[in-house]
Amino acid sequence: MRIDLHTHSSASDGTDTPADLVRAAKAAGLDVVALTDHDATSGWTEAAAAADEVGIGFVPGLEISTKFRHRGVHLLAYLPDPTHPPLVGALDRIIAGRTERTPAIVAALRRHGIAITEDDVRRESGGSVAAGRPHVADALVRLGVARDRTQAFTDLLDPGRPGYANRYAADLEDMIPLVTAAGGVAVIAHAWGRRGRSLLDEQALAGLRDQGLAGIEVDHQDHSPADRSELRDLARRLDLLVTGSSDYHGLGKVDHDLGVNTTDPEQYERLLSLAGAAR
Ligand SMILES: [Zn+2]
Ligand SMILES: [Zn+2]
Repeated sequence: MRIDLHTHSSASDGTDTPADLVRAAKAAGLDVVALTDHDATSGWTEAAAAADEVGIGFVPGLEISTKFRHRGVHLLAYLPDPTHPPLVGALDRIIAGRTERTPAIVAALRRHGIAITEDDVRRESGGSVAAGRPHVADALVRLGVARDRTQAFTDLLDPGRPGYANRYAADLEDMIPLVTAAGGVAVIAHAWGRRGRSLLDEQALAGLRDQGLAGIEVDHQDHSPADRSELRDLARRLDLLVTGSSDYHGLGKVDHDLGVNTTDPEQYERLLSLAGAAR
């Protein structure tokens, strides 16, 4: 059984529609796929229908933008009630923050001498609930300013670069109990990617577990083999479940093909039973 628990569709910053993504998952030989768009549940219905059609398992999820000790942390939330009012309120606030951020980024890039407009970004964001930095990156590629998304981020959009603008993110320590209250299962995405190792050390993860954190995404392209084996040991010590995923973005991210990392079926069963218990 091949299970991929982290993917993005055009409901956020992926390039496949939710239905196309599910069909691609089937074609890639997956038995179960989760859709985890950034701060958005809008792709779930379409993805679930496509999964029924092609006969694979579907897990509705989200990847929520949070902050912990002033640093960004992505929190995966599986199977929460998408109508749970506090969760809906928190997601609306995050999306509003991102929508307000794009004009600030465009203005900063223009001050830096790059002739980009908000229209250029809108052209890239299409069906997404809110234009975000990946769409700015795509616009920079189209304008010939950057070679690809990665270069756009490293040169211009990452913290400390000329096009960086801060934005609202929910507090991780508020979001974990909120996801749990909504019947969902909270898992930290790519915990040690992007210099996360010092931020999310064993002590921090133990504290988050006590607040309701259920697991850590261990097998992810941002983790070296050494990171993975250390994180796996750590998860075992803390009794956290371990997931593995592609973080697929369609054409939006290279080296993240569907099923490139997968989740152990036993861990998947445990995740489902936690979601069931929360209900
Ligand atoms: Zn992420
Ligand atoms: Zn992701």
